[in-house]
Amino acid sequence: MRTLLRPEIERISEYTLKERPCRIKLNQNENPFELPAGIKEEVLRRVAAQRWSRYPAFIPGAQIEQVARFTGWKADGVLLGNGSNDLLQVLFTCAVCPGRGVVLSQPTFTLYRLLAETLGAEVTDVPMTGSFAFDVEGIIAAARRAAMVVLCSPNNPTGSQLLPADIERILASTEGLVVVDEAYVHFAGSTVVPLLEKHERLVVLQTFSKAMGAAGLRFGYALMSPSLARHVAKAKLPYAVNIFTLTAAEVFMEKWESLKSWIGVILDEREKLFRALAGLEGVRVHPSHANFLLFETLRRSPSDVFTALLGKGILIRDVSRYPMLARGLRVSVGTPEENSEFLDALREAV
Ligand code: PMP
Repeated sequence: MRTLLRPEIERISEYTLKERPCRIKLNQNENPFELPAGIKEEVLRRVAAQRWSRYPAFIPGAQIEQVARFTGWKADGVLLGNGSNDLLQVLFTCAVCPGRGVVLSQPTFTLYRLLAETLGAEVTDVPMTGSFAFDVEGIIAAARRAAMVVLCSPNNPTGSQLLPADIERILASTEGLVVVDEAYVHFAGSTVVPLLEKHERLVVLQTFSKAMGAAGLRFGYALMSPSLARHVAKAKLPYAVNIFTLTAAEVFMEKWESLKSWIGVILDEREKLFRALAGLEGVRVHPSHANFLLFETLRRSPSDVFTALLGKGILIRDVSRYPMLARGLRVSVGTPEENSEFLDALREAV
């Protein structure tokens, strides 16, 4: 039978997440704290005052200026997206195709490989070290002539971090785009945004889906040199970010000073969770710079442990099919009550 679609689309496996009813949801690295009702009401008031029959601004200048102040980067080097996934797709579309390959450090966020494969681009995987540190020399060796290298820092699902000096070394020895996905940067205390001034090939992605507690709203942005942004913007769909999201993002940035105490609470909880997991027999936990922890189950299979937790209404992520993670599970840091229920259930399950 004649194939209707490009063969690479029919060949690849989809990026999907099975809906599973649960009481405690610790599977997507979301912020467990909900936005205060007053902030939601302010968003709704401002949205109600706008004309829904009209398109949003072609270039949402007010929010771009806010993101520029929020991140310390130039407004003409900011692109807004319907989540950072949207901008990842735009960047892949711009940079890769058959003959223009991408380098990834593995294990990492699965979407990168999927986007490359939909475009027929070759992917070179560089394994992390045994303790899940980035193999910077290996990345450099693989990426010398690549069209793009995509690095997630802090990395999903390992929590490992690349330091600005590592990114500078990678930039110094490569020729393509270097994309740093900083989805979890607000938990890490170190960003590569200051390197943008010196490096025209660097792109930094951030999102409101994690620390900002707004995964449902879909707001992300890419930061890069204004000359690069001018070209990348050509591959973006017009009006990708709707007026609800633009308005919500505007309000969150205004209120961020009062919201950001979330981060300290999540980091304290992460440390408690780490210590508890480190003390559990049959579990090996890895240090994390993000709002989740990767751990390995040494006695029971990760899928058995996953199922036992789900039986108690606790949903975490089975990452055992990721490269190098045959015994791996990932848990997001929840509220103190959620974390303690998770730990009680895990103690019984391992
Ligand atoms: N990058 C990484 C590394 C992620 O883990 C995620 C969420 N799973 C995203 C990007 C997607 O973020 P957004 O919600 O902004 O599309």
